[in-house]
Amino acid sequence: MKLNCNVIKDLLPLYADQICSEESRGLVEEHLAECQDCTVLLRRMKNEEVENSLETETVDVLHRQAAFFKRKSAVIGAAIAGVFMIPVLVCLIVNLATGAALDWFFIVLTSLLTASSLSIVPLMIPDHKVLWTLGTFTASLLLLFGVICIYTHGTWFFLVSATVLFGLSVCFLPFAVYAQPLKEMLGQYKGLTVMVVDTFLYFLMMFVIGAYVKVPVFWHLAPKISFPCLILVWFVFLLIRYVNCNGFLKAGICTMLIGVYGFFANYLVNRWIGVERSIPAFHPFVWNVETVDGNIRWLALIGCCAAGIVLMVRGIVGGTREK
Ligand SMILES: [Zn+2]
Repeated sequence: MKLNCNVIKDLLPLYADQICSEESRGLVEEHLAECQDCTVLLRRMKNEEVENSLETETVDVLHRQAAFFKRKSAVIGAAIAGVFMIPVLVCLIVNLATGAALDWFFIVLTSLLTASSLSIVPLMIPDHKVLWTLGTFTASLLLLFGVICIYTHGTWFFLVSATVLFGLSVCFLPFAVYAQPLKEMLGQYKGLTVMVVDTFLYFLMMFVIGAYVKVPVFWHLAPKISFPCLILVWFVFLLIRYVNCNGFLKAGICTMLIGVYGFFANYLVNRWIGVERSIPAFHPFVWNVETVDGNIRWLALIGCCAAGIVLMVRGIVGGTREK
């Protein structure tokens, strides 16, 4: 009995997997002996199968590897935690034995908590490592400041905490927003979130500094010094992130703007807060103690403007060429 190719094609997967009946196998083999097309099809089917099984095996190996490292990290984390417990216990005993209140013991405890947040937490927490590490580090650091502040009867807790929070946020928030689940939650607002949080923490820090130094003139000076900087930073951010134009053009505008800002900001802010300050003179051929500051500022201004113009021209020329 001659079977046509379509029937054989239906049977081939079963034949390749060796799960068809004895009769079907006989028919398929009989057909394959005469049909080149179906033989090629079978060969291709078998190759695909090998590829698929290789892929599954690779994924399997990777999973096993990941599980192995997870177990290993947990063991190392637990060992470090055990080592950290030794000084805690020793300090507790000594602190109690010397009859003192449990004061400096808490300093040791919170210091070790801070160390743990950077060593044990990333090893032992299975998911969202980055956020957990940064979160517990920040919290334990603030706790450490609090304990030391109480121990030394200081009044600087809020001052130090607000300043450190701002610094940590500037350094680490740009990385934290790329860690899950923040990355998914924030979507396309990652950059904006970083800017808003940093700006808020900046104002918080300035407010706390103002409240701490208790000098009335601070409230008059701080905004006038802060706003020009913040406006520049926000302008650069909005330009780079949201304006849809050539990257060279953006880079050129930013370079030029920063150069101009660096040159005039000091002068303008000083004028604004009522300090007389003149724009420095440029003596490119006279370099001494009096001229060096002005000369460097002028060279920086000229350099930034030149680099900015080159980048902008490149952007405009490149942009029209692309069109
Ligand atoms: Zn055939």
